[in-house]
Amino acid sequence: MTDKPLSDATSMRTDHCGTLRIADVGREVSLCGWVDRRREHSEHLAFVDLRDHTGIVQCVVDGGRDLRSEYVLRVTGTVQRRLEGAVNADLATGEVEVKDCRVEVLAEAEPPPFPLHERTEVDETIRLRHRYVDLRKPRMQRNLRIRAQVNSAIRGAMESQGFVEIETPMLMASTPEGARDFVVPSRKEPGAFYALPQSPQLFKQLCMVGGFDRYYQIARCLRDEDLRADRQFEFMQLDAEASFADQEDVFCFINEAVRAAVEAVVGTRPGPIPTMTWLEAMERFGSDKPDVRFGMELVELTDIFADTEFNAFKADCIKGIKVDGGAELGRNRLDSLTDDVKGWGGKGLVWMKVEADATLSSPVAKFCREAELRSLVETFDAQPGDLLLLVADERATVRSLLGRLRTELGRPPVTQGGLHFLWVTEFPLFEAIDDGGRPIPAHHPFTMPHPDDLELLETTSGTDLLAVRSQAYDLVLNGWELGSGSVRIHRGDIQSKIFDLLGIGVEEAQAKFGFLLEAFRFGAPPHAGFAFGIDRLTALLAGEENIREVIAYPKTQSGADPLTGAPNPIDEQHLRELGLRVLPRD
Ligand code: ASP
Repeated sequence: MTDKPLSDATSMRTDHCGTLRIADVGREVSLCGWVDRRREHSEHLAFVDLRDHTGIVQCVVDGGRDLRSEYVLRVTGTVQRRLEGAVNADLATGEVEVKDCRVEVLAEAEPPPFPLHERTEVDETIRLRHRYVDLRKPRMQRNLRIRAQVNSAIRGAMESQGFVEIETPMLMASTPEGARDFVVPSRKEPGAFYALPQSPQLFKQLCMVGGFDRYYQIARCLRDEDLRADRQFEFMQLDAEASFADQEDVFCFINEAVRAAVEAVVGTRPGPIPTMTWLEAMERFGSDKPDVRFGMELVELTDIFADTEFNAFKADCIKGIKVDGGAELGRNRLDSLTDDVKGWGGKGLVWMKVEADATLSSPVAKFCREAELRSLVETFDAQPGDLLLLVADERATVRSLLGRLRTELGRPPVTQGGLHFLWVTEFPLFEAIDDGGRPIPAHHPFTMPHPDDLELLETTSGTDLLAVRSQAYDLVLNGWELGSGSVRIHRGDIQSKIFDLLGIGVEEAQAKFGFLLEAFRFGAPPHAGFAFGIDRLTALLAGEENIREVIAYPKTQSGADPLTGAPNPIDEQHLRELGLRVLPRD
């Protein structure tokens, strides 16, 4: 065997279809690909458009009546310049064609289950059932190749920063990421189960104890959660951890990886990535993953109505957003926005339109003082034709309702407005207080509290604990949460305090994370890390709204795989081996 030259050529072909140009005129070429279309040229001649992943080229074929769509061919012929008038400006190969073709049918094909070259919407189940046909489309070819570029750029960036790729197990004990585990029954130990990793979190922390001070992995993570446009059961993350590193170090490492990925796909390197505290994000955008491609920020109005007589405005907090030119919205639309807000748990929505004389018209204007209305116009810097939308309620409720409304009304399509990365820092340590008065962790329980709030942990209790900040951070891109990370607790005393607050007793902690706690007793360096979703980053770089468009073999919204039929039952014998019995459905 001799080594093959590194080129497009294989023993069956000399060139790819989409690469032929005027410079190739006169060359004899062999091409392989699928029949995209066949058109009769004359009684004896047909045009066959041959397609591979690089594009399409027109081949002039003798006869060719038996060549059907999606047949797999090898075509050998001579490249010639097309006659003037026959040039196809829409095609990269449009100035040439291949003539005097000898055609070899490598495989026949049944008619495809859906057309490949039309822009018709095909039912998703049918697309996924025949994903191998769907993958031939230029859109899927492009998306999966973008994905490969993203992966490769990330690997390069991490490795050039000294990160070592370490693979962690798929069969493991549960990791505390807060979602439901997928489990795998053990045959050797009937009744016992492995969990599939929700993330390599605990293993990567153990790598730090093990002296690998910069770990990374492009890791498969599995979480049994309801699926959405930006969520699949299994997804890929760039997972990283570093020792003797703090939040700023992590930002530098990850910035380098995302910048390299963007540069590989878009061609330009994004500038510095700004940071914003969680509190600022919530106050200004009503979201912990603000889409900063557009304004429409939340405006604080509480003081304006400090001693209002309008009952609906006697509230903990009043904020509003301004929709430029929104006064055009009709009554129906305003009613449906009000219904949305109520559906999201709000009491209601107040709208006000700015008239030509800069006064406000609204069904509730009569309940407000002149001065209050004037202040509103000033605070919003409202112009005639604008629409003001106001919500009064508990502060947290106001923020989240207006945040959703802002997104609903202002969010540009995924392909518009550029790429706006943002680090959101200082997430609260606890997301809520449960009925028993215990705090519920916002991240996993190994997240280091903010150094300035360590004392608060000792001195406060109940809902006051919600003010305790953590050293957890998220990376956001155009309103999508790309990923999360934190500085970890490596000190036993702080960890015990957190477990205590969370009501995790010594025994429970031992049972759940005993191996990690034990490892920490053997010399744990301070460490911090992060993980971001490669599916989400790729989707945004490819201009796709749904991550399924950048995954080769995704599941449907209901979690099924129409291609292989998964999930499917297993036979009795197999169940018995595993010590399992399936209960009848309720
Ligand atoms: N394991 C976390 C996650 O998957 C990321 C991290 O904290 O590093 O969200």
